[in-house]
Amino acid sequence: MSLKATINYSPSFNTKKRPKKRIKFLIFHYTGMRREKRAIQRLTNIQSEVASHYLIKNNGKIVIFVPDLYVAWHAGISVWKKYNFLNEHSIGIEISNPGHQFGYKKFSSIQINSLIKLTKFLIKKYKINKRNILGHSDVAPLRKKDPGEKFPWEYLAKKKVGYWHNLSKSKLIKVRNKKCNKILKNKFYTYLFKIGYSKKYKKLNHKCVIKAFQRRFRPQLVNGIIDQECLLISKNLA
Ligand SMILES: [Zn+2]
Repeated sequence: MSLKATINYSPSFNTKKRPKKRIKFLIFHYTGMRREKRAIQRLTNIQSEVASHYLIKNNGKIVIFVPDLYVAWHAGISVWKKYNFLNEHSIGIEISNPGHQFGYKKFSSIQINSLIKLTKFLIKKYKINKRNILGHSDVAPLRKKDPGEKFPWEYLAKKKVGYWHNLSKSKLIKVRNKKCNKILKNKFYTYLFKIGYSKKYKKLNHKCVIKAFQRRFRPQLVNGIIDQECLLISKNLA
C-alpha cells in the first residue's frame, strides 16, 4: 500500500534517525490557526521549532513535513503511561482547524476520510496498538486542548482507528451530571491512570485532566466535573 501525499520538509526534527520499533503512538493535533497557509508556514519555519510528520489540509490532501523515522517536534513536554516526552515514540498528525482560539469548527468528512487512510497505513506499518492513538491534550492536558471535543473519536473507533467504550447511550445519559462522592472520584482517577493519563495531574488538583478525558471520551459535556457518566465510561475503558 502506498500513500498519496506531497512533501514540504520542515527543519524542526532531530537529525538522528530512530529505529522503526520505537514508533508506538500516533498523536493527533489541530493546527489552531486562522489560516491554513500560515499554519503551513509555521510548521515549516526554522524559527518556530515546531513540526508534525503529517498535515491533513482542509481539502483532505496530505502533506509530509518530516519522514516517519525522524523525531518531529510536535508534542512538547508530555506524558503517557511510563512514557515521558512522547515525540521520541510517536508520529504527529496535524489536522487543519482554527481551534478553540479562532473559531473551532467541525472537522470535515473529507479531512476525516483522509485521516483514516493515513492512520490505517501507519497502524499497519508500525503495528500501532489501538490504545496508543492519542490526542495532544491526552499527553499534555495542562497546556493543550487539541484536537478537541469536535474530533470524531467515536466514529474513528468504528473504523478501527483508536478505541471507544461499549456502553449504551441511553444508560449513560441517565447518569450524566449525577454527582460522585469522594470515594467514587478516587475510583475515577484510578481508572484514568490505568487508561494512561499521568498521576501528576491529580496531585496538582487540576481540572484539566478531567477535561482532557471528557474531550476524548464524553465530548457532549466538557465541564471538568467528575460525574457518574465519566465514572462509568472510565471504568469501561480501564
Ligand atoms: Zn497539538
